[in-house]
Amino acid sequence: MEKKVRVRFAPSPTGGLHLGGVRTVLYNYLFAKKNNGVFVLRIEDTDQSRYVAGAEEYIQECLRWCGLQPDESPIHGGEFAPYRQSERKPMYRNYAEQLVQQGNAYYAFDTPEELEAMRTNFKTESNPSPQYNHAVRQQMRNSLSLSKEEVEKLLADGVPHVIRIKMPQDETISFTDMIRGDVSFNSSQVDDKVLLKADGMPTYHLAVVVDDYAMKISHAFRGEEWLPSAPVHLLLWKYLGWQNDMPQWAHLPLIMKPDGHGKLSKRDGDRLGFPVFAMNWKDPRSEEEATGFRELGFLPEAFINMLAVLGWNDGTEQELFSLEELVEKFALEKVHKGGAKFDYEKAKWFNHEWIKRLPVSHYSEQVKSLLQAAGVEVESNEKLEQVMELVKDRCTLLTDFVQQAGFFFKTPANLDVASVQPKWNEDKAMFFQVLSEKLVTLEQWNAFNIETLFKETAVEKNIKVGELQLPFRIMLVGGKFGPTVFDIAALVGKEETINRIRQGLTFIAS
Ligand code: GLU
Repeated sequence: MEKKVRVRFAPSPTGGLHLGGVRTVLYNYLFAKKNNGVFVLRIEDTDQSRYVAGAEEYIQECLRWCGLQPDESPIHGGEFAPYRQSERKPMYRNYAEQLVQQGNAYYAFDTPEELEAMRTNFKTESNPSPQYNHAVRQQMRNSLSLSKEEVEKLLADGVPHVIRIKMPQDETISFTDMIRGDVSFNSSQVDDKVLLKADGMPTYHLAVVVDDYAMKISHAFRGEEWLPSAPVHLLLWKYLGWQNDMPQWAHLPLIMKPDGHGKLSKRDGDRLGFPVFAMNWKDPRSEEEATGFRELGFLPEAFINMLAVLGWNDGTEQELFSLEELVEKFALEKVHKGGAKFDYEKAKWFNHEWIKRLPVSHYSEQVKSLLQAAGVEVESNEKLEQVMELVKDRCTLLTDFVQQAGFFFKTPANLDVASVQPKWNEDKAMFFQVLSEKLVTLEQWNAFNIETLFKETAVEKNIKVGELQLPFRIMLVGGKFGPTVFDIAALVGKEETINRIRQGLTFIAS
């Protein structure tokens, strides 16, 4: 029988969620949905020294914002709860002890000073940072180098110790990665990783294997940076006798810096002026703040779309995909092996396209909040949506609506008079005076009638329409931007249009 598809995103809650992390979530989600599977969120928080308050809630909020909700998680619950590794602590020790009994792992009693001494004493030119491995283990204080009696005494005395895997010497360890194909390692290149720490907590290496087994994970997607750990995990699956249940691995290509040199880091974002985290993140220890895609004004639909195609395409020229389309079209075989360069301009292009594509009602609440935060009161949702419809082509980020839509609701306080004053004259002032009087009597207030009246008046006064539109715009908008002036006047309303012409005349004259 085919194994039920169960995938997991297994973040360590240590800080903001990097866009590479969100892409891992996305690929997990798409694979699960496509195969009628289950998407699990498991929090890998066994390293207490790296624990950061709020980081788990942040991850859950990111998943909510992106619309990539897990089926099982610490908050959604599920058959395999708990989903926080720290709450599963008692489950791991037995497996580590089993490995010791089998001869695949050993107790190590070395103190931090002894480990430090090892690093200094074994340092050579060809081996500048010696590791705890087959070459040194016999000279350290562990259950392989000490006598049985000594070990028993140390254990009985409660001397702090860890359990390390005993990596075999010169063995080839191979597996088939769903993206990279056949991958092999020589076991001698891998150190004897700690599996269980002195505080009884497992390390990532033990916990990830035990939990992927316990939670019946069928496919495991993770970033390429975890590839060097794969041989340790493969051996653990084998030593624990679970080899036939091992998930299929897919190591996802890295998201690279824009110049293609190396993995994109938070620091690159700071340096080059774009976000790297999904949402704003404030590190509670350093108080350092990083801006997120969400707060900068990205739509989740665009963010997801942009991430999906960073390292994947469906083999056609199509670039815009909704989440539903992605579920339908996503195929691991089309995920690229090489890293994908991040391009912020392209990310913005996706957002612009999604702003145009989605019905404005889909994101009008967010725009309303942005306007309110900028001190603009929105009197009606209906008007807001009409305005948004009119200006959405001009917005790349949701935050652009503050400038593009704000003046429809608030009389501009500053007018760019400098751009009209040089060509200003009495005739033009007269034109606007007459126009405002005529507008008072205009019965049906719409763009067509306003434009007709505007043009008729221009003919009467013998002034070119082209010379009057800029001053009209400055009066209505405050600056040289926005859609057609007559559309603006129609939505701004009769009384307010007249009011702005009067205000404009005073400003320009002064
Ligand atoms: N806890 C690891 C991380 O923080 C998970 C790696 C994996 O998926 O195996 O990325």
